[in-house]
Amino acid sequence: MANLSTQAVTDVHHWNESLFSFKTTRDQSLRFENGHFVMLGLEIEGKPLMRAYSIASPNYDEELEFLSIKVPDGPLTSKLQNIKVGDELLVSSKPTGTLVVDHLLEGRNLYLISTGTGLAPFISIIQDPATYERFDKILLTHGVRYQSELAYQDLIQEQLPQNEYFGKEVKAQLIYYPTVTREKFRNQGRLTDLMTSGKLFADIQQPKPDPKLDRFMICGSPSMLKDTCAILDGWGFAESRQGIKAHYVIERAFVE
Ligand SMILES: Cc1cc2nc3c(=O)[nH]c(=O)nc-3n(C[C@H](O)[C@H](O)[C@H](O)COP(=O)(O)OP(=O)(O)OC[C@H]3O[C@@H](n4cnc5c(N)ncnc54)[C@H](O)[C@@H]3O)c2cc1C
Repeated sequence: MANLSTQAVTDVHHWNESLFSFKTTRDQSLRFENGHFVMLGLEIEGKPLMRAYSIASPNYDEELEFLSIKVPDGPLTSKLQNIKVGDELLVSSKPTGTLVVDHLLEGRNLYLISTGTGLAPFISIIQDPATYERFDKILLTHGVRYQSELAYQDLIQEQLPQNEYFGKEVKAQLIYYPTVTREKFRNQGRLTDLMTSGKLFADIQQPKPDPKLDRFMICGSPSMLKDTCAILDGWGFAESRQGIKAHYVIERAFVE
């Protein structure tokens, strides 16, 4: 377990019956880029049981934060959902991933398209002052089934605009667009449908995205990624591969 460190849980917050967040101590030597994921887990019967987790906290934070699903019969999350402050977790020491702003060409607007726990890496990215320096507007979308799954609304809408270092930039540049599919809400429908119909862009008063100007980061289920990439490819956007800068980057929020 040389590449794993043991960290203590410092905070747990349950959003609803299917979703929770938790914070852990952070190894002083752990370095990561905002948008990266680590392997995280528990020691079960003497063996590490590890899963990929996006880091939701920004890389300047002293602690690490994660947003997790609760899969009722999931090998890890059926146990992880019961963690308490003071419990120990295993965290890999080599964060990695493709969802980093450095893999994108310079641009005007940055669209962060997420569903479910795919929001997690974007919670890190919207807390990075460099994001606001690089782009004019940051459009954070979050598609969920029920309103109770809209995690981090208070951070996004209330706390970040008051941030003493970059609150002014957040107020001027961050646009938050949550949407719900299975109950009434101010924005309704699947993000892919809202993109193809143009309603998303009309609602946030932005022009239709242009590959010459706009950039996308996408994190969601395998099927959501497939559908969103097909839309962007059809509009002339190219995906960054092997770290070569392009118009959009993707990361799976889980494997089916
Ligand atoms: C790059 C990457 C980053 C990830 N980041 C996160 C994260 O930040 N937060 C998180 O909760 N999970 C994340 N996952 C998924 C995570 O690795 C585990 O699958 C999840 O914690 C469930 O573990 P499990 O052992 O309980 O069940 P698994 O056996 O791992 O999964 C069982 C089934 O549950 C469903 N499922 C798993 N994860 C999710 C999810 N996040 N949302 C909806 N359905 C899911 C899938 O159908 C899957 O087949 C990520 C996966 C990848 C590949």
